[in-house]
Amino acid sequence: MEHVTAFAAVPETVRAFGFFIDGTWRDAAERETMVRRSPAFGRDVTSVALCTRADVDEAVAAARKAFRARSWAGIGGADRAAVLLGVARIIRQRAEELAFWETLETGKPISQSRAEIADAAGHYEYCAGIAQSLSGEAFNTHGDDMFGVVTREPVGVVGLINPWNFPFIVLAERLPYILASGNSVVVKPSEMTSATTLMFADLLKEAGLPDGVYNVVTGTGPVVGQAIAEHRDVDMISFTGSTRTGEAVLKASASNFKKASLELGGKNPQIVFADADLDDAADGVAFGLCFNAGQCCVSGSRLIVEETVAERFQALVLDKLSRIRIGDCLDPETQLGAIVSDQQCEKILGYVKLGEEEGATVACGGNTVAVSGGRFIAPTLLTGVRNDMRVAREEIFGPVLCMITFSTAGEALEIANDSPYGLGASIWTKDIDKALRAMRGVQAGRTWVNTTIAGGPGQPVGGFKQSGIGREGGRMGVEEYTEVKSVHIAIGKRKHWVT
Ligand code: NDP
Repeated sequence: MEHVTAFAAVPETVRAFGFFIDGTWRDAAERETMVRRSPAFGRDVTSVALCTRADVDEAVAAARKAFRARSWAGIGGADRAAVLLGVARIIRQRAEELAFWETLETGKPISQSRAEIADAAGHYEYCAGIAQSLSGEAFNTHGDDMFGVVTREPVGVVGLINPWNFPFIVLAERLPYILASGNSVVVKPSEMTSATTLMFADLLKEAGLPDGVYNVVTGTGPVVGQAIAEHRDVDMISFTGSTRTGEAVLKASASNFKKASLELGGKNPQIVFADADLDDAADGVAFGLCFNAGQCCVSGSRLIVEETVAERFQALVLDKLSRIRIGDCLDPETQLGAIVSDQQCEKILGYVKLGEEEGATVACGGNTVAVSGGRFIAPTLLTGVRNDMRVAREEIFGPVLCMITFSTAGEALEIANDSPYGLGASIWTKDIDKALRAMRGVQAGRTWVNTTIAGGPGQPVGGFKQSGIGREGGRMGVEEYTEVKSVHIAIGKRKHWVT
């Protein structure tokens, strides 16, 4: 309990971080720094170095050196698994400290940070299994003179560019999958939320990860992110963030035709049929909207509800939204967290105004809430929305729900799929046939039936259409960070071509 008390209040002083290359900490020295003001408390909490292109060069060189030295890539899967299991153990030991800094920088409720840190440990444990079982294929079907094998090998140096909304769990949904096969990595967290990614360097070292395998360079996207994406000695890029920045990263990665894995935006439908358990669905819709204050790529931001129950369902959702607890983010009872930046806050409120201009009605919310010196927006429901309105088409990335009605299952799917995105979708019905047909018809990389935002290490995640390329998580998530080699091996004396 003493441990918990130590992380119960906002610190009096700003915690200054350096950056991490080749197993050692570097000071910010003469570089500019950026101070992060906690969105939940309005107090300065951390400061990070704004690294340069030269720092990126150094980090990539360290990652390349470690890869070439085979200090990680060259050891057995069982040895890599032992390190990954050690990492999971240390995450669990230091969970409270990690959750505390995650909450200070992101403004998410402490209960959510704690859950994300625990889930993160699970990803390292899961990947310890795959590190030992990753395999290719054997072809004993090529006749007596030939044998074929397909092997997998690590791609080499991976550049990992992460967003501000889930710093530690997004890292956990990528890093152990990258490490499982033996890759080295250069990570750039968002400049707003770098603390836990930096703190993690010490945990990895303590668990036995060799120097140079994990490097962190902090700073802005246009400088550090761009330099990683363009770098000719980076073999693969993994990016999570907005579709617009994803496009820029993809273009930059063409410098040396890097492999790319992109998880981008979403405008995720919640389809509620009249025969659903409406109480459950209303609770799921409230959670799917307000999880991470709507700053979530799979946020269920479009409510597509059957006309015949629309009025009743709206009342149930309004009741749920009115009872969500907004408060001190270090209070375990708090459910709705802060908005990450002033810019994001203005963007969200701008969309509420736009929705009204487009003809929608604000049924609840649409206002800021003052708590603990932080920056919060009340859960907001826009009714009377049509799917061609900008509020229904663009990613708002805040707790703003757009309600649209439908009259047939076909129409529901048409509305759900009429979007440039295809990241997540939820279907609420008690009719198994309806559920299966909707599941098959909806264009989304993650689809939930009678639940939302459920997940875990085993199943891959990613998007259709403009929501991304590739898959993270599961066995596929490890395979994504490998190259495939197809090998033919001749048996016996060659039949000569030149006779
Ligand atoms: P970005 O997509 O711009 O940021 C994501 C990451 O990319 C950050 O680490 C950022 O760095 C970095 N980055 C920015 N520009 C470049 C670049 N040119 N080359 C390489 N990396 C770059 O998101 P924003 O923070 O600007 O948020 C804007 C909107 O994006 C949100 O309102 C939301 O709609 C969406 N978004 C979606 C996310 C998702 O999970 N799908 C996650 C985050 C945002 P830095 O921030 O340090 O400058």
